Amino acid sequence: MRRVPAHRGGRTRDGGVLVKAFRYHRPADVAEAVAVLAAEPQAAYLGGGTNLVDLMKLGVQRPDVLVDVTRLPLDTVEELPDGGLRIGATVRNSDLAAHPVVRRDYPVLARALLAAASGQLRNMATTGGNLLQRTRCVYFQDTGKACNKREPGSGCAALHGQNRDLAVLDWSEQCVATHPSDLAVALAALDTVVEVHEADGPRDIQIADFYRSPGSHPERETTVARGALITAVRLPPLPAARRSTYLKVRDRASFAFAAGSVAAVLDLDGDVVRDVRLAYGAVAHRPWRAYRAEEELRGRPFSPELAARAADAELAEARPLRHNGFKLPLTRAITVRALTELASS
Ligand code: SF4
Repeated sequence: MRRVPAHRGGRTRDGGVLVKAFRYHRPADVAEAVAVLAAEPQAAYLGGGTNLVDLMKLGVQRPDVLVDVTRLPLDTVEELPDGGLRIGATVRNSDLAAHPVVRRDYPVLARALLAAASGQLRNMATTGGNLLQRTRCVYFQDTGKACNKREPGSGCAALHGQNRDLAVLDWSEQCVATHPSDLAVALAALDTVVEVHEADGPRDIQIADFYRSPGSHPERETTVARGALITAVRLPPLPAARRSTYLKVRDRASFAFAAGSVAAVLDLDGDVVRDVRLAYGAVAHRPWRAYRAEEELRGRPFSPELAARAADAELAEARPLRHNGFKLPLTRAITVRALTELASS
């Protein structure tokens, strides 16, 4: 059996080695990292590598240079004077899930991370990398299949193919993929701010504006400039988030990507919903903030029936594909369960 050397990647479909040498660069600071990406069209940031290295082995991503950002000073979790929390982009998922302030003030975040992947992967995966991981659409990962996201203009094999795991909301004829991150769903429910550094300097962007719908350019997944580096995410103070949870349904008891998931924050005044935050995973190209469901819930006495009506309102515009109609009752059921558990906690 032929081996692929550690510094090369990819195989042709007949098993031959698809040689692609790449360079490794360790920048001194954030500005240098961003400058290298700006100068090299085929450069990629290397964080934990838990997704990128797999894609390189498959020949899906073929960078010329890897810019290792793991040594940059972005690995701290900082309590902010306003009561919020700033999480550096290279904080490992395992460290974040175990952080006492996260566990106390934002349990939805800790639970999303613990549901996301095995301990080994959490030890490697970073906060920034988690947000930028690529879809697990099987056609995206197969270089022999048509995929507009991997190769713009080539078609979408999933639209009429095996689409059980793909989107029911906000998809386009060009792409029906879902975003795979559990962490991003929890951050969407918490109105997180993403701090990025672009070629012309740093800026903040609300997570609701960070991800794109697929539209006619599914290869563009975020609204930030190519080469932008996520430096941190900032959680606003949200006392209600102490009563929050993340519920994920997957095909097997072991770690797997979500068939459906919900991040929920519930604030009750007696039995009346004073505030609520809901976001869904595995239903769209981006983490899906359920604003309509929240509207339906706010100001009304909580009941499981109300939660079901709220989910139905959110999913009213869903367009299930041939194989994934099950996601509608599934998402409705986990909404009811998550909120009912929070209401009785
Ligand atoms: Fe590619 Fe998107 Fe179609 Fe999957 S759904 S094959 S990622 S274009």
